[in-house]
Formats: sequence, structure tokens, C-alpha cells
Amino acid sequence: MPPHPPTDQEALAREERRRGSIGALLDLTRRLTEDGTLEELLRCVTDCALALTGGDHASIRLIDPSRNMLLAGARSGSAMDARPMTFRRGEGLIGWAIEHGQSLNVPDVSADPRFAVFSGQGFAVRSVVVEPMLAHGDVIGALSASSPEPNAFDEEDQLLVRLLANCSVSPIERARLRRLALYDDLTMAFNHRYLALRLQEELDRARQARRASTQVGPAGTVSLLLFDLDHFKLVNDLHGHQVGDRVLRIFADRVRASVRQADILVRRGGEEFVLIMPQTGEDAAMATAERIRAALGDSAIVPSAGIELRQTVSIGVACWDGAESAEELEARADAAMYAAKGAGRNLVRSSLPPPLR
Ligand code: GH3
Ligand code: MG
Ligand code: MG
Repeated sequence: MPPHPPTDQEALAREERRRGSIGALLDLTRRLTEDGTLEELLRCVTDCALALTGGDHASIRLIDPSRNMLLAGARSGSAMDARPMTFRRGEGLIGWAIEHGQSLNVPDVSADPRFAVFSGQGFAVRSVVVEPMLAHGDVIGALSASSPEPNAFDEEDQLLVRLLANCSVSPIERARLRRLALYDDLTMAFNHRYLALRLQEELDRARQARRASTQVGPAGTVSLLLFDLDHFKLVNDLHGHQVGDRVLRIFADRVRASVRQADILVRRGGEEFVLIMPQTGEDAAMATAERIRAALGDSAIVPSAGIELRQTVSIGVACWDGAESAEELEARADAAMYAAKGAGRNLVRSSLPPPLR
């Protein structure tokens, strides 16, 4: 609550915002019925949260069913080019609201020990409102707004954010379930159904970029990394399937930690994964592959208490030649991966240049 009665100017600004809120909500209810990607849908909601609360930043985070990972997110307001958003279980005010399924209105974060400062956040935060988003009794994420001023949000703002979370949760949940159907439950990488779909999309995008320019810039390139864990059958044979499963999860986590937000990790099947790297040429793809190989192979992993093992991976790299099909590109990455196996494993190999056509 503001510590003083509102001045005329403040009352006027408030009145104007309330009127704007109705327009923003009408616009939102229309946009929520349109088909869009999950991220577009979320962005509508954060845009609306800004309009409703007058905050300077709004964000929404959706989590995976295990509540461990950020499934999708969007944000509106200041510092849009700052570091991408993350989710750490139980950490920060948003993590707290998700963990406890409770709303928050923090008038001054500097006095709240739950507040976590993330480096590179890029915008100042003094007050925060957070509303958990509930679908069928489960917390699926949280909507929040923040301001660089203390005491920026009153009870009405909190109710408006709750109204927004409640009215948008059904379309968001439908889009979330559609998205989850494309994921692999074990590793939360995309599943094979998504691979062909997304790879084709990326090739189409690169082809268009090449048509629009006389030079082949990064926008006209796509690279593919193909991973196959080395001697993985032995892990199952020696330690059991459950430990094997944990190793697969650790592998996916390490890859995600080593790549950009824009790169797409797919579990093609078993212990084989593919990383689609949009707008990436051969040198950058090779450097990423080497980083991943080292991140996995150079230090032991502990998949379970008392079990320490060294898991390595063989990686094939192929960069799109501008003409080949998705299948041809994947086949080249496959061949490169087999070359890495043949040369002794725990290696990165790039594919031979495709024949001239
Ligand atoms: P290489 O270095 O030649 O790739 O040897 P490898 O043992 O990794 O290759 P192989 O293809 O013989 O074995 C793959 C193993 O992956 C066999 C299978 O039991 C295991 N695997 C496949 N999917 C899963 C899974 O979901 N969980 C677990 N724990 N193991 C899996
Ligand atoms: Mg294999
Ligand atoms: Mg293998």
C-alpha cells in the first residue's frame, strides 16, 4: 500500500490505467482464441500483465511435470535483450510461488530473503507480484510483474494478475499438453516425432534467408550434431537400467548447459540424440561439439550415490549444404558419427563435403 494518500496526478494515472485494462483484457480474450505457438500465447499474457499492473516488466514461466525444468516462457517490458529466463526449483520468489502454489505481493524485495538476484537480469526490481498458474489443481507455472519502485502493486493489482492467470490458464494448458506430447519424458529433450518436423522448418527458414541475400550469412546455415553414447550397453549391464536412465538424463542436462537457448535437443531413440543448431556454420558447430564432448568425457558423473563413472560420447557434425534434404543431412551426420566410433570413440568428426551437384 502506498504510504501516503494518492495525489490528484496519481489518481488520474490510476484511472487511466484502469480504463486501459479493460481494453487490454478484451484484446487478450480475443487473442487467446487464436491458434498460436505456446510462446506467442504466453507473450499475449505478459503484454496484458504489463498493461494491467503498470509494472515495467512481466514474465511467465511454465514448468515441466516434474517441476524441475522451464518448459516455456515469455516476457514483456524492459531489458528484453538481457539474459534469457531460467527456472530453478524453489529458488527466488517465482520458484517459491511455484513450489508452494501461493500468491506473493512483495513491496520491497531487498527485505525479502527469498528474493534471488540473477546476474545479467538487466532490469531493476524492487517490488514484485507473483500468481501461480493452476490447471486441474496442479501448479503449471507462474505469472509475475515487477517494478523498480517499492510498493508498486496494491491488492487490486494482485487481483488483476490473478484474473489474468485464471482466464488464460485453459488455452495455455492445452498448448502446454500439445508441447509435452513432443517431449521425451525421461530426458525432457524433444522426441523423434519432432525431429523431422523441426529440421524441415529450419531448412526452409535457411533456404529463404539464402534467397533473400547474395551472400550466405549465418541466417542461411543450419548444422546438425548427432550423438551416440559410447558403450552404453555396459552401463546397463554393470549398474542396471535405472542408473542407465539417470546417465541419459545427465547427458541431456550437460548438452543443454553447453548450448544456446535456440539450439534444439532431440532424443532420436535409445542413447542417440540430435542437436539442431539454427543459424550455425561448420566452425561454430564443431566448437560446440567439442565443448559437449569434453563436458561429458573429461569429468566423472555420479548417477547414483556410490556410483561414479566416466561416460563418453561420439559426435558426428554435418552442416547443411544449401540444397540437400533433411534426410540427406541427417545421413551425413550419422556417417560422421560412425567415423568417430570407428576412430576410437570419445571423438568429434565432421561429415565429408557432399558431392557437387
Ligand atoms: P557403441 O559405443 O557402439 O554405441 O556401444 P553401445 O553399447 O552404446 O551401443 P548399443 O547400440 O549396442 O547399445 C545401446 C544400449 O542403449 C542398449 C540399450 O539397452 C540401451 N538403451 C536404449 N534406450 C535406453 C533407455 O531408455 N534406458 C536405458 N537405461 N538404456 C537404454
Ligand atoms: Mg546407438
Ligand atoms: Mg551407443
